Amino acid sequence: MELDAHTTEFLRRLEESGRTPLHESTPEQARARNAALTALLGEGPRMATVRDTHIDVQGGSIAVRILRPVTDPAGVIVYYHGGGWVIGDLDGFDTLARQVAARTGCTVVLVDYRLAPEYPYPIPVEDSWAALLWVERHRDVLAVDRAPLIVMGDSAGGNLAAVITQRARDRGGPHINHQVLIYPITDADFDRASYTAAANQLMVDRAAMAWFFDHYTGDRQVRVDPAVSPLRAQDFSGLPSATVLLASHDPLHDEGRAYAAALAAAGVAVRIKTADGQMHGFFHMVGLLPGAQRGLAFVTEQIAGVVSARSAVDAVVIGAGFSGLYMLERLLDLGLRVRVVESNDDVGGTWYRNRYPGARCDVESVYYSYGFDAELEQEWTWTERYASQPEIHAYLRHVADRFALRGHITFGTTVTAATWDEPSGEWIVHCDSGEVIRCTRLISAAGCLSAARIPDLPGLDDFEGDVVHTAAWPAEDLALSGRRVGVIGTGSTGIQIIPQLAARAERVTVFQRTPHFSAPAGNRPLAADEIARVKREYRAIRAKCRVNPAGTELTKSDTTAAALSPAEHARLLGQKWEAGGPGIIAVFADVLLDRRANHVVASYFRQRIAETVTDTAVAALLTPSGYPIGTKRICVDTGYYETYNRDNVELVSVRDTPIERVTASAVVVDGVDYPVDALVFATGFDAITGPLNRIDIRGRAGSALRDEWAGGPRAYLGVGVAGFPNFFMITGPGSPSVLVNMVTAIEHHVEFIADIVKYQRDKGFRTIEPTTGAQDAWVERVDAAANLTLYPQAASWYMGANIPGKPRTFMPFVGGMGVFREICDGVVADEYRGFIADFEQPEEGETTDATA
Ligand code: NAP
Repeated sequence: MELDAHTTEFLRRLEESGRTPLHESTPEQARARNAALTALLGEGPRMATVRDTHIDVQGGSIAVRILRPVTDPAGVIVYYHGGGWVIGDLDGFDTLARQVAARTGCTVVLVDYRLAPEYPYPIPVEDSWAALLWVERHRDVLAVDRAPLIVMGDSAGGNLAAVITQRARDRGGPHINHQVLIYPITDADFDRASYTAAANQLMVDRAAMAWFFDHYTGDRQVRVDPAVSPLRAQDFSGLPSATVLLASHDPLHDEGRAYAAALAAAGVAVRIKTADGQMHGFFHMVGLLPGAQRGLAFVTEQIAGVVSARSAVDAVVIGAGFSGLYMLERLLDLGLRVRVVESNDDVGGTWYRNRYPGARCDVESVYYSYGFDAELEQEWTWTERYASQPEIHAYLRHVADRFALRGHITFGTTVTAATWDEPSGEWIVHCDSGEVIRCTRLISAAGCLSAARIPDLPGLDDFEGDVVHTAAWPAEDLALSGRRVGVIGTGSTGIQIIPQLAARAERVTVFQRTPHFSAPAGNRPLAADEIARVKREYRAIRAKCRVNPAGTELTKSDTTAAALSPAEHARLLGQKWEAGGPGIIAVFADVLLDRRANHVVASYFRQRIAETVTDTAVAALLTPSGYPIGTKRICVDTGYYETYNRDNVELVSVRDTPIERVTASAVVVDGVDYPVDALVFATGFDAITGPLNRIDIRGRAGSALRDEWAGGPRAYLGVGVAGFPNFFMITGPGSPSVLVNMVTAIEHHVEFIADIVKYQRDKGFRTIEPTTGAQDAWVERVDAAANLTLYPQAASWYMGANIPGKPRTFMPFVGGMGVFREICDGVVADEYRGFIADFEQPEEGETTDATA
């Protein structure tokens, strides 16, 4: 692994500035240079309070800086800075300490132990120990009464952290919950391979390390004492769990690894990571070296895992799919303590569960991906025009790891209920695991299409074969070879899976209620030059996605069908059909507004079906009628209609004669038994409101969201509900959501919610929620906009028509992404017009970001 490019550039500039090697400098010169570096580090996140104080130590006093995050501290971290025991001070580590405090929600106590050579070994050790004891004695003042105690340090500070941790064990306390060692000095052996490797002689080299040791303790006998070389301890058992972060280009790499191995061999839980391409010292250069941010993310994720055992947090996010992951990242950035609760055992949401054969997105991969991080989009390369489910899932796993999010997620757990508790101003969240979590904000990232539904077919329980919903596809896949498979449902999912099943199963019987309109997907591998172009222009592409109606780079046609001749209709439709994808629905400006324009497009599709399917009776059954094209979501396929030309595929219409019942081995329609060994339900979802209604959510005065929505969903901007304080939904009802590129819609809502949370916090508002008036007006507007279109004319899941008893109301906002964003921007510009907030009293004596 090469040295990181940013580091190389940093070192080049350092060289240019004509620096003297450390070992040829005096300690004063080294400290002066260090102060110059500090000036480059920038400011860290805002803290609730920052206070410097002095504590008594043997023979004098030392300073400690207490950095308290904006949320109630979840733990306390005693931080020992690096600098070879010779250099380093509070200001030099202030930025880093703020970052650690913000990302972990812990108070950080930075220790200004006295430095060698003026104060050689054992003084830094004794000062560090005194600081630890002081923290333990002042837990009440620090507001960390029973919170976890963590010691942390980098380089020489890592050495002190390791030494102190051993001492705390040997002396029976204080009880340390976790140790974080960043490229720690663990041994006075200068001859390990990483010490001598030429590639590692960078900002801190072998000569510099010798210089540090010479100042710390000249006595070679002392150097092998475990209080100087903790790796030489006799016993590593009984030490607290550890996080060890090393740098690949570091003389100290091998001894750090050896220390982690010694801990692990003694049964201590250790998480170790080597930061590739990084040099010794990278970690505290946050703001200067991007690698430091990644190191920080890894470390803080581990710490968050240690402190998350506490049950009260600032926010609970339900779901770890596209929306939950990004919401988590934004809230962590704000310094909130967050718990994400996810039913599955991995991240991904929809893209984890829908792992049926052929599952693929119908929005192009370069749009259907996060735009919030310029580096992320450069480092990830999509392989196909439309990404497959495994690729999207891999992408989301990458995002979770890259931003170190997993430590904040509780997997395999489902939120069953959440109740607003007025006296405490908290949501009380109940999980199926029995855990109860209290939080000040509840955020649904439960998705629009996550409440899968299997229709209530008589006799289904008697069926002896496999029953599988496509949104709960077995991880080990479904055995298909040599089997007869029945498929119920011919929406987007059915249309994707049927060709795959036909290719693998002995026989496929499709039970179709409503034929859907489907265009060829036109999927293909992405060429290297296309990828290069996209990567070059990604920022501009994302900017277009944000304002265009569909949330992609593509704009709608501005020509109506009426303005064009039949020959031009045919030409344009032919072009779009050949290009592939759902964009064909936007071929004319008025396809979803004007019956005649709609008829032109629908007729074209019908003609293509007739041309493709050889059996005319089957073609007739597959031909959609009775609803305007596009009012049920347009499907895209790869060889769907061709599949019906195969001998092993049979189409059974259940439109006029619904499925009568299921027997042990067959589906019965109109008195005829269709024998099957497995039944695949591609029967869709209780969309948009379903995932929320499955949870018993109760707002003010115990009112249930389900009841509030009994006549159809009522929400303001799809994000909040009157009477449900501090409750936010990502892409809830009344937002563009499923009508546009979901990822664009998600990013917009996540950012809107993060901003409102920040606004609430900055203003000191205890609660915030929509007013009933603003909500009513918005619901009316969503309804009126839908009624201008043809959408309400179909019995679609957009209308709730696929769920028996569900109120018929068009749930998404049809105005498009750009218009919706403008509306939301206006709401923000008017200080959150339509929201009502409630003040909280600041705690007495609380100051804001005051450095005393
Ligand atoms: P869907 O569009 O709701 O389709 C469900 C199918 O099941 C329909 O054909 C429906 O018929 C049928 N059905 C339901 N109950 C039935 C019953 N009792 N008897 C017979 N048939 C019954 O669900 P989906 O296909 O899973 O797609 C849902 C949405 O997910 C899509 O619209 C899309 O937004 C998204 N999706 C996207 C992709 C992609 O990106 N390519 C792939 C899959 C899904 P009726 O039409 O008569 O109700």
